[in-house]
Order: sequence, then structure tokens, then C-alpha cells
Amino acid sequence: MFERILLAVDGSEHALHATRKAAEMARLVQAQDFCVVVAYDPIPLYLGEPNMQLVVANRRDEAEEILNAASKEVGEIPCTIRTEVLEGDPASAIIEAAKKHGSDIIVMGSRGLGRLAGLLLGSTSQKVVAHAPCPVLIVR
Ligand code: ATP
Ligand code: MG
Repeated sequence: MFERILLAVDGSEHALHATRKAAEMARLVQAQDFCVVVAYDPIPLYLGEPNMQLVVANRRDEAEEILNAASKEVGEIPCTIRTEVLEGDPASAIIEAAKKHGSDIIVMGSRGLGRLAGLLLGSTSQKVVAHAPCPVLIVR
């Protein structure tokens, strides 16, 4: 039922909780595809060169670190773990990735790195829940 899992991470503790649940699910359902994505916001063109390339390289390094940490947390699952760095508004990028991969479910945290601690649901989660092409598991 949920063999194709898309996990979205942002380096937050919430996303790590989501990672553990996604990994448990992958083991339970004998997942065939497990893709972990992290998105970074588009870099403004007005930065010009070479600043633009430096910022992009920096964002990609950060993203790789986040993906490595998440992959470690996943541990043993029945399929290989794929990772992807996406550029764009995070919610839109996650939704597009789910469409591209034909994901059966998106797994993500209820909150992320944002500072508004009172919020029940962050804006990325809200947007994904509202527009996703598949079920979404929001992990608290
Ligand atoms: P806000 O961003 O609205 O200030 P927040 O950061 O607390 O609030 P969200 O951004 O909605 O909350 O984060 C909820 C979950 O969405 C995270 O736990 C993570 O799973 C996913 N997520 C957030 N940002 C990204 C991102 N850039 N790339 C991939 N997944 C993300
Ligand atoms: Mg956020």
C-alpha cells in the first residue's frame, strides 16, 4: 500500500522523528522505493556571480549533511535509500518530487526549524497537506 515512500527532512529534530517513523513503515510494508529529499529556497539572481555560485555550493553542502544524517537515522530497510537535493519553495518542491516519483505517501514532521514554537503545524507541512497528490503522514 505504501511501498513508495517520500521522506522530507530539514535538519530539525521533528524531521528526525519523522525519519524514524518512515523507516519503521518501510520495514513493515517491505518498501520498494525510499526517497529522502531536502529543499533549499531559490537563490536570488541579484547576488550576481561569483556570489551566486558560492551560495548555491554552500546550500548544497548543508543539504547533503542533512541527507546524510537522515540516511544514518533510517538504518536497515528493504530497499536502497535514494536522496535528492531540490531547489525551490520547499512545499512545492516536495509535492513535485512526490508526483515525479509516484510516491504512495509523503512523511514529514509537524514542525521544523521555524521559530514560532506555538504553531501546531508549520507552513511547509500545511501546504503539503493541502496540495499533495497522495496521503501525507505528519509526525509529532
Ligand atoms: P515555518 O517554516 O512555517 O516557519 P516550521 O519550520 O516549524 O515552520 P515546517 O517548515 O512546516 O515547520 O516543517 C515541517 C516539516 O516539513 C519538517 O519537519 C520537515 O519534515 C519538512 N520540511 C520543512 N522544510 C523542509 C525543506 N526545506 N526540505 C524538505 N523538507 C522540509
Ligand atoms: Mg520551516
